[in-house]
Amino acid sequence: MKAYSGKSVFGGIAIGKIRVYKKEEQQVKRVKITDVDAELSRYEEAKGKAIAQLQGLYDKALKEVGEANAAIFEVHQMMLEDDDYNESVENIVRNQEVNAEYAVAATGDNFSQMFASMDDDYMRERAADIKDISERLLTILNGTASGSVDAEEPAIIVADDLAPSETVQMDKDKVLSFVTVHGSLNSHTAILARTMAIPALVSTEMQLDDTADGKPGIVDGANGVFYVDPDEETLTQMQQKQKEEAEKKELLLALKGKENVTLDGQKVMLYANIGNIKDLATVRQNDAGGIGLFRSEFIYLEKDHYPTEEEQFQIYKQVAETMAGKRVIIRTLDIGADKQCDYFDMEHEENPALGYRAIRICLTRPEVFKTQLRALMRASAFGKIAIMYPMITSISEVRRIKEIVAEVKKELDEQGTPYGEPEQGIMIETPAAVMISDMLAKEVDFFSVGTNDLTQYTLAIDRQNTKLDEFYDAHHPAVLRMIAMVVENAHKAGIWAGICGELGADQTLTREFLSMGVDELSVSPGSILPIRKIVLETNVEEYRAGKEC
Ligand code: PEP
Ligand code: MG
Repeated sequence: MKAYSGKSVFGGIAIGKIRVYKKEEQQVKRVKITDVDAELSRYEEAKGKAIAQLQGLYDKALKEVGEANAAIFEVHQMMLEDDDYNESVENIVRNQEVNAEYAVAATGDNFSQMFASMDDDYMRERAADIKDISERLLTILNGTASGSVDAEEPAIIVADDLAPSETVQMDKDKVLSFVTVHGSLNSHTAILARTMAIPALVSTEMQLDDTADGKPGIVDGANGVFYVDPDEETLTQMQQKQKEEAEKKELLLALKGKENVTLDGQKVMLYANIGNIKDLATVRQNDAGGIGLFRSEFIYLEKDHYPTEEEQFQIYKQVAETMAGKRVIIRTLDIGADKQCDYFDMEHEENPALGYRAIRICLTRPEVFKTQLRALMRASAFGKIAIMYPMITSISEVRRIKEIVAEVKKELDEQGTPYGEPEQGIMIETPAAVMISDMLAKEVDFFSVGTNDLTQYTLAIDRQNTKLDEFYDAHHPAVLRMIAMVVENAHKAGIWAGICGELGADQTLTREFLSMGVDELSVSPGSILPIRKIVLETNVEEYRAGKEC
């Protein structure tokens, strides 16, 4: 048995098989073969497996995200049956007497380039699908699983590091936990693990090699330990701990349906943070009062092209409808810093966290912003959508946003397209926004404090830099005073203020936030019921009096 320590992103115990995930692209070698028919049967077999995998994904997606979103897996199945694609693979294998991997890779490249150069938008988008099915076939032919973080069976994923775009595509049913050698506690990858409510460790002190692959493992999320090939005693101990945790969870479920009200009658809204439509099931299981932060940029990160208005509209509409009248706060795209999309074609920056990101991109690329706003406005006719803008530093930005929103409404009116009247709020995540929060409060419907960035910008600490974790003090009085100031200024102007950064889920601060009068805490779905428990057991007046003594 080996035990490695790491920084805990989310508690809980995961027990299962280890899968080491290596990022390297699949290297396809051109190999001469002698038996063409045998090679073609290998290809046919791989194709059959790929179709079966896609059917499984279709069935799952149908249940979780509805027919419209599941349809892509049907399209991929059809593409695998496409005569031109299959004939191309067969011709390459037959004429060049080469391996199926090479033929698939060459066909995939040729076809995707052909689609990418077409005039029609729809056809151009198919280029990515061709790449996708070719990757799937290569994965099966190679007998490896690289290129996708998901495992065949539920597993503990061990990786050097994971990008947010890789994490967001993980299939929650197949990932018991993840352990990374690098990565910081405040990265978006860590945030996604919390949203998925799976035990996870980052900055784990281990060498990444293949020897652990396939071995049994245990992740003790609470204590930050990763066991490889655990001995009997550790296994029994951890199984017992896992059982106790399941029992605790069961007890918390009894709090479902209860109002979030303190012993002395103060109410607070407990909402959920999500990054993906797939998170909605956990949101409902944990009885969230609404969505306090939908990080819409993950829709962009999952794609290799700008998501169209229609694609976005369908997603926002589905979230609004699923939440059935509960508030759904969708944050406009916050691309930049650690969230990079190739197709945004951004220039290299020395200080990306202080650079071209979030609202700065939207205000300088209004066509991208307007597409998202149109989708949001249209979707708001189907539920209680609120729009939230990230990285605000000035009144003029808010006014500019309002002008663009007014233009979008005018265009929708002219086209006779129906839309709702979503609330408009901003994130308070820069010290500048805190200091002018009295002025900003007169411009918007609500505030939500983004403590992850607010801490980074206030303490001058890069949230991605794991070497600085010991200095990243989210309990720093400067940060806490800022939150109190924002809430006070919001209330003076008659608007509400919440917290959607990770600090909102810090249970050691729940009473402090209630005492400040925070109106809403938006946290990962798994934190809602534990926080509700604290709220129900708190007497805010007594807490305040206790502090004064
Ligand atoms: C924050 O900064 O606290 C926040 C919620 O936004 P993100 O973590 O996505 O930057
Ligand atoms: Mg932020």
